[in-house]
Amino acid sequence: MASPLKILFVASECAPFAKAGGLGDVVGALPKALKALGHDVRVLIPRYDTIKADTIHHQAPMAIPMMGTELWCGVEETRLPRSDVPVYLLDHRELFGRGYIYDPPNGHSPDNLVRFCTLSRGAFWLGRHLQWVPDVFHCHDWPTAAIPLYANTLERDTPFGGAATVLTIHNMAHQGIFSKRQLPLTHLPWSLYTSDGIETHDAVGLLKGGLFHASMITAVSPKYAREIRTREGGFGLEHVVNFRGGDLVGVLNGIDDQLWDPRTDRHIAHHYDVDSISEKVHNKRALQRELHLDVRDDVPLVAVVSRLNDQKGTDVIAEAIGPLLNLGIQLVVLGSGDPHTEATLAAWSHHGGGRMRAWIGFDEPLSHRITAGADLFLMPSRFEPCGLTQLYSQRYGTLPIVRATGGLDDTVEQYDGQGGGTGFKFWDLSVRSLVESVRWAAGVWRKRPEHIRSMQERSMRKRMGWDVSARQYEDVYRWSIERRRGR
Ligand code: ADP
Repeated sequence: MASPLKILFVASECAPFAKAGGLGDVVGALPKALKALGHDVRVLIPRYDTIKADTIHHQAPMAIPMMGTELWCGVEETRLPRSDVPVYLLDHRELFGRGYIYDPPNGHSPDNLVRFCTLSRGAFWLGRHLQWVPDVFHCHDWPTAAIPLYANTLERDTPFGGAATVLTIHNMAHQGIFSKRQLPLTHLPWSLYTSDGIETHDAVGLLKGGLFHASMITAVSPKYAREIRTREGGFGLEHVVNFRGGDLVGVLNGIDDQLWDPRTDRHIAHHYDVDSISEKVHNKRALQRELHLDVRDDVPLVAVVSRLNDQKGTDVIAEAIGPLLNLGIQLVVLGSGDPHTEATLAAWSHHGGGRMRAWIGFDEPLSHRITAGADLFLMPSRFEPCGLTQLYSQRYGTLPIVRATGGLDDTVEQYDGQGGGTGFKFWDLSVRSLVESVRWAAGVWRKRPEHIRSMQERSMRKRMGWDVSARQYEDVYRWSIERRRGR
């Protein structure tokens, strides 16, 4: 085997400690798969005060140059569950001890540039603190896109200057754009403030700078890697992505198949697997009871677990609830986000009788019970870099109904009318086509149970763990090191 690599993941989220979406799931799972391949993998995230974990406090604090001074940060250490992957928590009470990751509920955090540049610069200081120079810094989305910028400027002539940087795009829609007046706070030099650097429409764009400066770039599905090169998917950065096109690779996300396993899931009442799919109905009944829906086996239960926003198409779901319920289905929605969508869902939940329930909030255990208990899983995203919930639902034999975009198109196989496929895909995002697609899937569920069973078997047998993708990342790391060394 080639020599093991030293890899530092630096991210704003890491499940189960801090999670707002799929990024947290990836950072909580991929390092374990890389560790299993023999690499020395470690993770750095902020010490949010919401994190519940047993930690060891390192004695010496670190002084990170920031805001024209030195910010003294503590380091705590824990492990990813069921692994020996170290997770370091960067502790600065004022910056991170605020009860949220990015922004307060319905509010805005004005100093996110400093917060996440402190995390990014802190990655190098952690290396000094541990006397450990990574071969690769693996950065995720705009919050750690400043790492390649520091690596190419302030850290260029330090031992860390030789480390490669890999920037993974989980979502191009969020680009870390800040007033240029704040730039001096980060100590990033003005020489970066150019159109082929961090300058974007007279402001600082961290993601843009990271795209120019990272040794390599990955996107979380092959189709998304193509989509971000287009006007529709690039959110104004498509020209940068195309410029770096030779250094861009799409690697499909996997799932943590220990955490998401219907045979052992600690959040669900009745365990089952591909040989005992008939047991799944017990989870359906338990969910119907829990959410005060009519307890009926003969009605298809359709579920949504999602952030409620434009990206996810949940506004269209909210608009379609009346016609959806007229199909004689039950509908469960777990999510939070857009206040208007929340209000519409809550009103339907109140008046929908035993047919519709909305749970507004973020509730990890409930998301597992819904995934296990539902028959069909609805995900009409406008765009979807990869999407994990449709992977979880397939693993649980809960067939997805998805809009064929990005990772949804890559990971769901269309029902072929004969019992083949793993779900139902549609293309046009409108109330009408959403309702027609649910009608189609519910019709198959009612009239062709043998087709549903064979699709469930196919989807539950799919290999969705991280082992295949971890090998692809291994290749990306080695290429990035070669590029960094100019070969
Ligand atoms: P994104 O990262 O765009 O939100 P993904 O499908 O990649 O979408 O990942 C979303 C993750 O967040 C999944 O693990 C999903 O189960 C979880 N999730 C989303 N909304 C909720 C919620 N309201 N409660 C619990 N988990 C949620």
